[in-house]
Amino acid sequence: MTNPLPPPNLVRLESPAGFTTSGRHPSPRLSLARRAAPLASPQEQIHLLNHTAAPEFAEVLKARGLPPLKASGVAVLQLNLGKLCNQTCSHCHVDAGPDRREVMSRAHLEYALEILKRTEIGTVDLTGGAPEMNPHFRWFVAEARSLGRRVINRCNLTILNAPGFTDLPEFLAAHQVEIVASLPCYLEENTDRQRGDGVFVRSIAALKRLNALGYGQPAERGGLPLTLVYNPIGPTLPPSQNALETDYRRQLSERFGIVFTRLFTITNLPISRFLEELVREDQLDTYMSLLVNSFNPATVEGVMCRETVSVSWDGRLFDCDFNQMLDLETDSAVPRRLDEFDAEALGSRRIVTGKHCFGCTAGAGSSCQGALV
Ligand code: SF4
Ligand code: SF4
Repeated sequence: MTNPLPPPNLVRLESPAGFTTSGRHPSPRLSLARRAAPLASPQEQIHLLNHTAAPEFAEVLKARGLPPLKASGVAVLQLNLGKLCNQTCSHCHVDAGPDRREVMSRAHLEYALEILKRTEIGTVDLTGGAPEMNPHFRWFVAEARSLGRRVINRCNLTILNAPGFTDLPEFLAAHQVEIVASLPCYLEENTDRQRGDGVFVRSIAALKRLNALGYGQPAERGGLPLTLVYNPIGPTLPPSQNALETDYRRQLSERFGIVFTRLFTITNLPISRFLEELVREDQLDTYMSLLVNSFNPATVEGVMCRETVSVSWDGRLFDCDFNQMLDLETDSAVPRRLDEFDAEALGSRRIVTGKHCFGCTAGAGSSCQGALV
């Protein structure tokens, strides 16, 4: 790569017609950034976490005889395509929403393609915000697929029936993109409480469309992978992934005729809007104690940062999406920008950890691939 990385830029977008922050809520939900809330600051979040009674994550690893976290290669390039989203979920660790305007530029995405061409990174994991709202989404997906890479789209489902995006399911199916879709509960009330009024009904409609295109159908019949994601509504750990998957299958099949490939359970990390929720409900210390007391050494080997490099909308490198939101860049001994990407150096880097890491190692563990043990 010879071209210098362009300076980070804010891409100004108008909200597509039909997006609101509020659903039927009388008061619109706004991002922390839009409200200029103190917890919009990553430093403020870290300060708050550091003032809980939770021990240092690195110290707990040491006390358990475990080595510091270190990468074991780069199998996944996770690109956060921006903070723009059509929803404003109460627990969002990205602080995404319709009032955010930061999206990854085409120049940064071109760098990402260059990296794919000169490395053997097999998986491109697209997240956001709503990654589909990045104006370069379709172009990038087509390019990454033409390079033979597995492409995962982390989808909030409602974007698939939003104005201007209704042909996305066909596009994703045509390019054999794997979908990992949020559905925190099979009950309308619980889903809407976390994700906004009307989200459940629109999510079910989107799932039916995806099923009709082959998503979630058996692989032997040409089905495409459709993974659902559960995360707790409140300050608790997820239940057993296998047991919950059985419940989801029964409920979604009997009530809506919906099928899916598998369910991931993901623990909420005490970051951003979920952190604000914990503080507001005076639950931060209780939740941190739960995470620390549930520390499971068997999860450590599988935490996602060990095989992933996470890229922010402005082209900086992080160990994971959570570190990205806390502005904890990769270790200073290795590259920190897309245009400096060095798969070998990054593949053996020391991982930057903090108290939030207890969220990945509590109970059965948690990652973008669901439970770890
Ligand atoms: S949790 Fe996902 S869908 Fe909800 S606001 Fe955040 S990025 Fe958007
Ligand atoms: S929060 Fe990130 S760095 Fe910490 S254990 Fe989880 S994936 Fe790794």
